[in-house]
Amino acid sequence: MIRNHPSCGGWIEVVCGPMFSGKSEELIRRLRRAEIAGQRVLIAKAQIDDRYDISHVVSHSGHRIRAVGVEDPASIERFSEGCDVVGIDEIQFFDPSVVETCVALADRGLRVIAAGLDTDFRAEPFGPMPELLARAEIVDKLQAVCHRCGGAATRTQRLVNGLPAPFSGDTIQVGALDAYEARCRGCFEPGEDVLRARDPHRVTAHS
Ligand code: ADP
Ligand code: MG
Ligand code: ZN
Repeated sequence: MIRNHPSCGGWIEVVCGPMFSGKSEELIRRLRRAEIAGQRVLIAKAQIDDRYDISHVVSHSGHRIRAVGVEDPASIERFSEGCDVVGIDEIQFFDPSVVETCVALADRGLRVIAAGLDTDFRAEPFGPMPELLARAEIVDKLQAVCHRCGGAATRTQRLVNGLPAPFSGDTIQVGALDAYEARCRGCFEPGEDVLRARDPHRVTAHS
């Protein structure tokens, strides 16, 4: 694989994949290395609510790095004044204008590293991600371990009371107590509403 950073100007790197695939871990690793190299680093994460630690990016394995919680892409541009590198976690939660923000930063000569879910709980492309992936110089699609079979997981399964969540639910559910699992294509289960639309005569233990 040929993987070189441009030798002049800025660029966009995207780290994507399902939940638990190590996106935040990888983002933290790259940002720490940039700091070791003496670069000025801004770390931002989408602040969709205030339940979590908004002053850090935290991985499921407990790695953490300080961060500013931002509500809109315009604040990322404001905070990035004087920086060499901008890291953004949970970028899928921002509105589509975040792509223009990343492009503007890269055009100004900054290295932009964005981490986010490429697909939502329906396994559909998530918000700004398709556009961002198309405009990035470097893309890494990480895999998690499938909670069901131990294979390579590429999807995020949303569960409500242990059952696949209906696809009619909101893509972003603030404060919901849903559970999530990483699943491979074969183990991913669509919501009951989708299965019923496919087969109206479907009988389940729950109907
Ligand atoms: P992401 O940001 O993609 O959700 P994190 O970087 O926060 O992922 O967490 C990755 C870590 O999660 C792994 O290093 C591992 O310790 C832990 N982990 C828990 N469940 C899984 C899983 N099913 N597959 C892979 N890693 C998992
Ligand atoms: Mg993460
Ligand atoms: Zn599986």
